[in-house]
Amino acid sequence: MNSASTLTDTEREWTARRLSISTRIRHAIASGNITTEFQPVVRIRDRSIVGCEALARWNDPILGTVCPSEFITLIEASPLINDLFDTVLQQALAAAVTWQSDSPAHPPAWVSVNLSARQLRNPALPDMILRSVSEAGLPTNLLTLELTETAILEPDPITDRALHTLREAGIGFHLDDFGVGYSNMARLGELIAKGVLRSVKIDRQLVQPLPDNDARSLLNALRTITHAVGLDVIAEGVECTAQLDSLASLGYDYAQGWLFHRAMPAHAARTLILGQRAE
Ligand code: C2E
Ligand code: MG
Ligand code: MG
Ligand code: MG
Repeated sequence: MNSASTLTDTEREWTARRLSISTRIRHAIASGNITTEFQPVVRIRDRSIVGCEALARWNDPILGTVCPSEFITLIEASPLINDLFDTVLQQALAAAVTWQSDSPAHPPAWVSVNLSARQLRNPALPDMILRSVSEAGLPTNLLTLELTETAILEPDPITDRALHTLREAGIGFHLDDFGVGYSNMARLGELIAKGVLRSVKIDRQLVQPLPDNDARSLLNALRTITHAVGLDVIAEGVECTAQLDSLASLGYDYAQGWLFHRAMPAHAARTLILGQRAE
């Protein structure tokens, strides 16, 4: 009996889908079929938009809509991840430039772009990012990069040089999906001391059980630690007012989630951001 015959139909379908995604994604990136949507992050106090996260979107003529969590894991270990990042970065920079206005009463809105773990080990990354930001004409402090703990867990000379170069140029980092990975507190402390991290994003798995009491205690502790080391904290995945009320009472300042806004095209984000400035 060969191993293929032990696969169920469902397993065979999934294998075929993964294969199809892996082959079609290259073409999708090269032919401009990856678009970027923007999900606002709001200040809890007044729901004003402080920035937006750029999220990759792919609608394939044959496969239909493929979620980033599905296609990114398949290309993360290949150089295609750099091409995807480049595509999303260009669209994010172009969008963020149009969100800015000269109104001194309103702070400018930042844009954040997700970076995959291995990308920091590409020595060409910092120059590529800095060149793109400069060509787009966006002030460097309005671009943030979202990193998960796996990207920065192990000290690594190339990673450290990239973080340092980008930080020196004014680019900030969000620590993404905090609370569900493997935290190396010594390593995080080092990056905080070096001023690399700007904010911590608390993963939605921790936020969604609110207003449950255990979830409250945990989120309270996480907010205390984060503020104690001088970082902002953003709660991810807020879907209902019960969660929002808990976060507000726990002293959370920023949140992101479907309760406020879903991800949207750049022009819709622009309308919202400029609209709130006109108020
Ligand atoms: P992430 O960086 O943690 O992004 C937040 C994800 O949560 C997004 O899913 C967003 O649509 C979703 N979300 C936001 N608010 C809510 C909510 O209230 N409820 C629920 N259930 N979900 C919410 P999305 O767009 O499917 O992206 C999934 C993940 O794929 C992202 O998680 C990120 O890790 C990755 N990703 C997306 N775009 C890119 C990209 O351009 N590059 C890289 N490297 N990764 C990306
Ligand atoms: Mg993110
Ligand atoms: Mg996240
Ligand atoms: Mg996530």
